[in-house]
Amino acid sequence: MNPRIEKLKEINTIISSAISKSNKFWFEHILPSQMSLPLFEKAEAELNAILKDYPSDTNFWRMLCNVKTYTMDYAAAITALEKVIALENKQKDKSQLAELLEHKDVVKPKAKVKKTESNLVKRELPYFKYHPDPTVTGAFETDTVVTCDCCKQPTDVYYTNPFFAVDDIEALCPWCIADGKAAEKFEGSFQDDISVDAVNDKDKLMELIERTPGYNGWQQEYWLAHCNDYCAFKGYVGWQEIEPLLDQFADIESDLASAGGLRLTELPNYLKDNGSCQGYLFQCICCNKYRLYYDFD
Ligand SMILES: [Zn+2]
Ligand SMILES: [Zn+2]
Repeated sequence: MNPRIEKLKEINTIISSAISKSNKFWFEHILPSQMSLPLFEKAEAELNAILKDYPSDTNFWRMLCNVKTYTMDYAAAITALEKVIALENKQKDKSQLAELLEHKDVVKPKAKVKKTESNLVKRELPYFKYHPDPTVTGAFETDTVVTCDCCKQPTDVYYTNPFFAVDDIEALCPWCIADGKAAEKFEGSFQDDISVDAVNDKDKLMELIERTPGYNGWQQEYWLAHCNDYCAFKGYVGWQEIEPLLDQFADIESDLASAGGLRLTELPNYLKDNGSCQGYLFQCICCNKYRLYYDFD
């Protein structure tokens, strides 16, 4: 494949992932989230490098303009877009330039977080009995160093959502989740206490909703229980993932019925990881049987 096209795709992927992590809209006057900043920086570096080889490629200039708009460097975004217009003179770009010029004098807020990789302390991760492998399920991310909103310490393992609280929380470290500080400080919870199976033990409920990282459903997340205790969340699954485990489920037919009425015979056609019908696998921490929850997008 053409190396220029290849590079275009590669940088596009970085920018898409930066945007999805940015927690902001296009022209919103806030800085993108701390998790997205290294990705925007990476995209910018790649663009500056490739523009040395292809200085009249308007696609790369447009991408640079987008990156600079997201990071609120409006003057640089304008410069990049002016290059595009000088090369191609399209109405679409001129309209965007007019819009950008309205933002020209907006002052970029100071970043609240400084990069603190150097004072990072390596600590052993706490154990969550209802979510034993949060790094594997994706609840904890490890792609960059962020500052925990609760303890203000740098961490290279962090959690973003779900967390139900009034304050906007960008990132929490595993330790502030495990010892309950995050839930206490922000009066928040990781799981809605009415969207859980009944367990006859208030302490277990508190551990689940205040000291356990949650998972992300299409709809309201639901937490299953078995043997009078909450199950461990094992991860996101489709038919492919659960078929080999079918004989180890407690009662998959009744799980299907209570989650949304699908029959086991229909499951191969519907349940797909990352699909419209998403499965959530749980395992009893007492008898080790599996349970399944699912929802639709
Ligand atoms: Zn913390
Ligand atoms: Zn059980």
